[in-house]
Amino acid sequence: MKLSKRLACFSTLPFLLTPVIADGPFYGDPPDANHPWGVHDHNRPQPKIVTPGTCSSQEVPGKPPSDAVVLFDGTEATMKNWVPAGKPKNDKRWTLTNGALQCTPGAGTVKTTAECGDCQLHIEWTAPTEIKGKSQGRGNSGVFFLGGAIEVQVLDNYNNPSYADGMAGSVYGVAPPMANPLRKPGAWQAYDIIFRRPVYKDGMEVDPGRVTVLINGVVVQDSTPLEGGGGHRGRSKSRPFPESGPLMLQDHGNTTAFRNIWYRPLPPRAVEGGTDGRLTKEAAMVKRQEIAADIRKDAGTKTGKDQMYRLFESLCYAPHDETLAAATAMSATYVAELKSADKDALEKRKGEVMQARQAFNYLVKHEFVPTSFTGKDAVEAIIEAQGWNKKK
Ligand code: MG
Repeated sequence: MKLSKRLACFSTLPFLLTPVIADGPFYGDPPDANHPWGVHDHNRPQPKIVTPGTCSSQEVPGKPPSDAVVLFDGTEATMKNWVPAGKPKNDKRWTLTNGALQCTPGAGTVKTTAECGDCQLHIEWTAPTEIKGKSQGRGNSGVFFLGGAIEVQVLDNYNNPSYADGMAGSVYGVAPPMANPLRKPGAWQAYDIIFRRPVYKDGMEVDPGRVTVLINGVVVQDSTPLEGGGGHRGRSKSRPFPESGPLMLQDHGNTTAFRNIWYRPLPPRAVEGGTDGRLTKEAAMVKRQEIAADIRKDAGTKTGKDQMYRLFESLCYAPHDETLAAATAMSATYVAELKSADKDALEKRKGEVMQARQAFNYLVKHEFVPTSFTGKDAVEAIIEAQGWNKKK
């Protein structure tokens, strides 16, 4: 933390001499109607630990992060993750060629045996070095989500213009890429795609679905609304998608090849029942009740002032008369015990008393305790009597 930020942890008198405790309760603004957690809330779950992967070089594909689902890693075993998307019309099949999953023209589109929904997808591809054809005829393939609902275009557009909404990184038929960062044919191109399907409730669209695409580290789609997915020549309309489906790679008559294919499922958004971000009032209250109940349960494992604070803390999420009564009674006992301590004993407990001030001030300020609550004034009186408000 920068010094200026640290200093911001000291508010004006009477807090001048003692910093508020940042890594605990009674600190940031409390939960509100749309946010089940407070600001800087220590009860908010920690992000899961993920070991990052490694970046690919042109010669060697990178490694996926530790929680990725690997769809193709250059091995025969992961070839089995891909099957013809339709009934095969011939004996042609995609091949494992030089460690890549390569399209055999005429074999047809392939799909994953696994189904996935909202995800982060990484996939690398290379177009044939020998330049044949132009526009949509060069290195054409495509990454299809949810069994074909939308296509993120794969196309060799290196010195090869085409219609913009069909170029590499386009949401095909809907949105051109914002840039063309392709390498020359024969080089590996990396796509990183964040895919979010449309969300409908009661027949109404609450999120059109979005796709973000980076090609070779360059953003070419930035949370682009899906408009139903797009298609060839026809204008698509917004519509619900399935929750999950296979990923597909298109056979468009070119020997485009793929490597290092993996995805990570993404958690639900707030609009579909997820708990991050701005929730509906109803969803936020349900979550706040859950958090409060968990904290009350945890309080049962503690004793003394630790239990008192935990019970008070639960009230920041949801009111609970029984808990308020219990915590208030415990605070009266605690304050009485502080008052009975002599000056020297209290001097050794200065940090603890300051913690009580922070907690009780917070509870009063945010009206989690009624105006009849006396703990705050009692603790202030102790601090004044000890001379802790005086500048040294
Ligand atoms: Mg295509």
